Amino acid sequence: MSETVTRPWETDLSKLSKLELVKLERDGLDIIEKIKEIADQGYDAFTEDDLTFFKWAGVYEQKPKGDGFFMMRVRIPSGFLNSGQVRTLAEISRVYGRDVIDVTTRQAIQFHWLTTQSLPDIFSRLEKVGMFSYEACGDVPRTIVGNPLAGIDPNELFDTTDLVYELENYFLLNREFSNLPRKYKMSISSNIYNTGHAEINDIAFTPASKVVDGVEVLGFHVWVGGGLSAKPFLAKQLDIFIQQHEVKKVADGVTRIFRDYGYREKRNHARLKFLVADWGPEKFQEKLIELIGPMPERGTDRTVGWNAGYFTGVHKQKQEGLNYVGLLLPVGRLTADEFENVADLADKYGSGIVRACNSQNLIIPNVPDEHVQALLAEPLLARLTPFPRTFIGYAVSCTGNEYCNLAIVETKARMVSIATWLDENVEIDTPIRLHVNGCPNSCGQQQIADIGLQGALVKTDQGMQDAFDIHVGGSLGPDASFNKRLKGRVLGDRVAPVIGALIEYYKENRSAQEEKFHS
Ligand code: SF4
Repeated sequence: MSETVTRPWETDLSKLSKLELVKLERDGLDIIEKIKEIADQGYDAFTEDDLTFFKWAGVYEQKPKGDGFFMMRVRIPSGFLNSGQVRTLAEISRVYGRDVIDVTTRQAIQFHWLTTQSLPDIFSRLEKVGMFSYEACGDVPRTIVGNPLAGIDPNELFDTTDLVYELENYFLLNREFSNLPRKYKMSISSNIYNTGHAEINDIAFTPASKVVDGVEVLGFHVWVGGGLSAKPFLAKQLDIFIQQHEVKKVADGVTRIFRDYGYREKRNHARLKFLVADWGPEKFQEKLIELIGPMPERGTDRTVGWNAGYFTGVHKQKQEGLNYVGLLLPVGRLTADEFENVADLADKYGSGIVRACNSQNLIIPNVPDEHVQALLAEPLLARLTPFPRTFIGYAVSCTGNEYCNLAIVETKARMVSIATWLDENVEIDTPIRLHVNGCPNSCGQQQIADIGLQGALVKTDQGMQDAFDIHVGGSLGPDASFNKRLKGRVLGDRVAPVIGALIEYYKENRSAQEEKFHS
């Protein structure tokens, strides 16, 4: 870490959490070289602290801990992929990851079943195609989420592609920011339907405009302090308007505030959201202005709604004659062969570009009008369909206890069975977004779902059984609010019919306004 970095948290070491003390002794990013050097010696060559720092390399232990298998998350900034990168990811899964690939709710790719011996080769394969797992986990700036349609989107104010890469290149492996109090999530999108899920990020840039010297300037508003987990917070908007070339400066300033003033005493009270909640946006903004200089006050918000990151179907791009085709990945999972097939289709019908969505789905862009029907007739699209049934088409799931050490219940298979039951038994004319978390950490983002499920265990005559708390009414965008928990806890096998009954009640009581959905 640079000598010039202020580290006020070092002044009272007695208050720091155990991990913070270890983080003062070694930079988390050093684990990458250590893995490259000794990974072939196997799991036992690494200390307990090493295994904690594996997260800085984007790697973390798979369930059950100690068995020597790991998960890996790969950063996909704003979901941007090309077909060569997709083939590399598919091959890694085939060779090392038992053919399982997950698309996460932050547009990243996740592998399972990796051994330490496989990691150096995986790092190398990724680096060759300009991809990295580094800092996809850990107390660092994580994968930058954004608009998967950047550059082709009729609903964007301007193309955010270069800005995403500017931030990615600035923050990735930057040792000024490799010791943050906790994970740190960024979002940047100029889509007017909030494709970047701004309000649940530590820092978010959303589309805005302001008249400057008689000319309308397109830029961003800035939000800070959002996040989910057990104590969810919606981000607060600062009273500043920034131009596009100021994004890096602002992101740098906010990240420095988090690094230097964020809480480090308790792990569950260390996210930026707690500092913002205590300071309020006004004090936070004062501190930011101290660092980056004065900024003009807010302009006009250009976000008009929320599409929840769903793009299934065939849609016109802003480029005449071109289309993007959104494919459904049921609960975000596909095989290596399927992923490779997506790359082939992107080359054959599009321009070799693939995009990953925070709804755990994929997009093939740049398909000329005359090729759309041929793409739709491809066998792969029978399963990864652009035209899914209502419930499976809007079903999101975290990893769950199949692989995750923190999970209380199984999630992906459960969500598929719930959505399938609902598709067979419930009619509705508007999407109902279902999300499931296997624990309160909320990788499945249940708080923003129309119907969110959170796993728990209940004691029954047959022993402990999977059960779920049910929450209803979550949304982001101009009417953002987290969903509300209903009383009671429902056994896993009973969840589908209970949701069915809730939806019947909703159909009878909803207002006309609630029938709108932007996609
Ligand atoms: Fe694991 Fe909990 Fe995250 Fe699900 S929400 S992947 S169970 S940590």
